[in-house]
Amino acid sequence: MRFILSLFFVFSLFSSAQNNYPQDYFSNPLEIPLVLSGTFAELRSNHFHSGLDIKTQQRTGLKVKASANGFVSRIKVSHFGYGKALYISHPNGYTTVYAHLQKFSPEIEAYVKKQQYEKESYEIEVFPKVEDLLILKDNLVAYSGNSGGSGGPHLHFEIRDKQERPMNPMLFGINIKDSSNPIVKSIYVYPLDKNSFVNSSNTKQKIRLTPLKNGDYNTENINAIGNIGFAINAFDRQDLAANSNGVYNIQTYINGSRNFEIDFKRFSFDETKHINQLIDYELFSTKKQRIQKLFRKNNPLSLFKSPLNDGFIKVEDSTYSIYKIRVADYKNNEAWVTIHIKGTKSSIAKPKEEKVTPYFIKANQTTNLKESVVSVDFYKDTFYDDFYLDFEVKNDTLKLHKDVKAAKKNFTITYDVSKYSNEDKNKLYIARLVGYNNYPFYTYTKRKDHLLIASSKKLGTYALAMDTIKPTISSINFKSKQWLSKYRYLKIKIKDEDSGISNYRATINGKWILMEYDYKTKTLTHDFNDGVINDTKNNLKVIVTDNVGNNSTFETLFYRK
Ligand SMILES: [Zn+2]
Repeated sequence: MRFILSLFFVFSLFSSAQNNYPQDYFSNPLEIPLVLSGTFAELRSNHFHSGLDIKTQQRTGLKVKASANGFVSRIKVSHFGYGKALYISHPNGYTTVYAHLQKFSPEIEAYVKKQQYEKESYEIEVFPKVEDLLILKDNLVAYSGNSGGSGGPHLHFEIRDKQERPMNPMLFGINIKDSSNPIVKSIYVYPLDKNSFVNSSNTKQKIRLTPLKNGDYNTENINAIGNIGFAINAFDRQDLAANSNGVYNIQTYINGSRNFEIDFKRFSFDETKHINQLIDYELFSTKKQRIQKLFRKNNPLSLFKSPLNDGFIKVEDSTYSIYKIRVADYKNNEAWVTIHIKGTKSSIAKPKEEKVTPYFIKANQTTNLKESVVSVDFYKDTFYDDFYLDFEVKNDTLKLHKDVKAAKKNFTITYDVSKYSNEDKNKLYIARLVGYNNYPFYTYTKRKDHLLIASSKKLGTYALAMDTIKPTISSINFKSKQWLSKYRYLKIKIKDEDSGISNYRATINGKWILMEYDYKTKTLTHDFNDGVINDTKNNLKVIVTDNVGNNSTFETLFYRK
């Protein structure tokens, strides 16, 4: 009890000390040297990476230790995202997060399973009380894994401040050997308005990059006039691995004075969506290339150290400028790119023709569109910029521009399905058509009488799709009527075409059993060590439901003693 009270006391005492980061307070959560496959705030799909991805030697099951004293303040188990995740709050106000875990330490695992059996759900989120799970530094808290949306075994580790903002763990002295310079892969240049040109063109261009012996770069000279800006694709490599990770800081200079800076130190989760305005969204969406802009346009991100509208370069006729980009990693290894800009009025330059449509989207206004059975509602501030939208409805297909504009809010798409029979209505869903063959990708669809409603941040082509195929369920590691006395696990495969799996429920002799679902291997796993199966003759029943409500039931018998 004394320990609990003193923990509380220390909490209130240090809660305001946020600006200086305690050094050597947080230790390496693994027993192996720190090698990273991902750095803080590196650019990912629709978000900045919120922690470090620590490599686990291509294995799962490595011991994960508490990085400092504290208590387990949150446990979340989910099919996607972080998978199994543990949050430890520390007396200095920071929280460490450990994600994609295989399982928790025995004490925590028992706590979690109790909740899962009570709620009859694998997915849970709990916020234990301070005294429930007190943790000392270096205590075993979990085993590393690959659960949730993880693409290979690793430990995702975060440090968050009191406002739940993820911080760069390296600020706390988490030390990663890094002696090489960041690497620049490509540079783009953008004319930023109708009257601006680069090399007589009004559209963005990739410019030729020449690596120098010392790790810096030169580019081809460019001729420009008007307002221009640049964008970069750069990465960093640490000493102990070949992984391409994110960089720490980027600065740009025009004729020796700094005109832009971005710093990957800390961000908040509600601003992570603005990554799509930081990158060239069109290039990412169409070519999967992630180029980040070196100018700040309509972007409230707090990672910028420069004010709004910084990074723009105004090029006048008959001038000569030197533009420099400095890319640095956390250890201050740096790479410089030098670009010579000649101000040249071009006689042949023609502005890019903008396609005009009847649907002009004003970013700061609400727009409601309706055509036959489809309506689309864009709320105020859905987009960053004003633009002419392509909008067309043919039968049940909605052409809603192309996925080339970043959105910061969901818009809604509503289909009136009155013309369909009741039976068909129930099997319909709204799909986004993707790829060359227009594969219908399920979009979460709500039903309200004769309306189907989906929300999305992605423009593109949508259509109604029908799912009449039930999920399939099969056993993986046993046969009907088999004796499974020596088995530790019961494994089932579940699959669904079209709309995908929405939920599943497994019982033995009528009693709910915990089955962990791994969507990547389509596997449900029950651990007999849960101790809930005590009968000899066991009737297993698994019901799986897809996203439009088709369901399948699988029943089988097995024996155990
Ligand atoms: Zn991660």
